[in-house]
Amino acid sequence: MSKGSDFMRKGLVVSLLSAGILLAGCQAVNTTSGGSVGVERKQYMFSMLSPDEVNKMYAQSYQQTLGEASSKGLLDKSSADARRVQAIANRLIAQAPKFRPDAAQWNWEVNVIKSDELNANCGPGGKIIVYTGLIDQLNLNDAEIAAVVGHEIAHALREHSREAMSKAYGVQMARSGAGALLGLGQDSMALADTVVNYAMTLPNSRANENEADLIGLELSARAGYDPNAAITLWNKMSKASEGAPPEFMSTHPASASRIASLQAAIPKVMPLYQAAAKP
Ligand SMILES: [Zn+2]
Repeated sequence: MSKGSDFMRKGLVVSLLSAGILLAGCQAVNTTSGGSVGVERKQYMFSMLSPDEVNKMYAQSYQQTLGEASSKGLLDKSSADARRVQAIANRLIAQAPKFRPDAAQWNWEVNVIKSDELNANCGPGGKIIVYTGLIDQLNLNDAEIAAVVGHEIAHALREHSREAMSKAYGVQMARSGAGALLGLGQDSMALADTVVNYAMTLPNSRANENEADLIGLELSARAGYDPNAAITLWNKMSKASEGAPPEFMSTHPASASRIASLQAAIPKVMPLYQAAAKP
């Protein structure tokens, strides 16, 4: 047997083993139903990583962010911005069960932090943080705030964090072999650390970004916010990224293809907006 084919066979065995481990550890799940925008991509989640576990993993960094803001007096609960964000987010949250009924039981939280930062996020399980810089510097109207918060809520509904962590687990498992799958023993903490760090620092894939755009667009429309605001929002984002782009824009490029894909989806959600906007 030539060296080459031996190498290939070993490679095949390794990749079959890895695939086997991945298949054994992963299950296909439907986080959300398609909605009018038709987000139907099948997702694979690592079965040992439950949504509760991901929420617990996220809680630490979430509480830290809130604690730091609170100790500096930057947790904004009563300004006009804060009240606007609360009202808009609550209308979007009320529509979340249309995509996944269990979202009605989530412990949603809406926080506003006073900061120049142009940023917003919705962590696993519905933990929303909006930074006032985003609203003030881009001079966002209510429908534009709905567009960005709806986008972030959509990431949480699709469980993109758990999906990224699942992928990271898969990679680690394949590297460390089948034993790790059975045990998860003393190395499990180190493994969890690696996985969380990997998944949390990873920018969302373009596919995930597109899903969040589409589901966010439908949430906004159902909540009675003009979906065309998604276009003006990303145009403002695009302008703001000239020069030194803020961090949010490095993970959320306001590209022509993003805007084109949103534009193409607006007719699908327009009837929902018109129905919701009727008195
Ligand atoms: Zn995003």
